[in-house]
Amino acid sequence: MPRLCRIRLRFAPGVSALIRTRLMYLARWFEVTQNVEHEISVSVGPDSYVISDPSDREYRDRQGCFSYPTKREPGRIKVAGRQSIQEASLTLLHELVHYDRWRLGKTHGEVRVEREAVKLLIQAMR
Ligand SMILES: [Zn+2]
Repeated sequence: MPRLCRIRLRFAPGVSALIRTRLMYLARWFEVTQNVEHEISVSVGPDSYVISDPSDREYRDRQGCFSYPTKREPGRIKVAGRQSIQEASLTLLHELVHYDRWRLGKTHGEVRVEREAVKLLIQAMR
């Protein structure tokens, strides 16, 4: 039985209700169907791209980024809030795939990560 509510979301003012609702759904779906073993804090920002905080534990994408957790800090995901609902959905799942691959000690090739995100989105929206 997976422990729930390990993925917490925060939304900047101005992020549309549709995107909030969809991303909250996808985060819950991911928790229920995948193995989430760490706290993950997701910030959905007000912009159309993500300003990331370059560090050696961060994976950067144009519209999202993922920093893996440490003993002291949760994993962190940022998602640009001004995207289409479809793009925002894929961005969140893309960053969650980076988390999953980090958790499993796998590589992070962007093509493979994106392909996996598309597959998860199709499954989640069935
Ligand atoms: Zn990526």
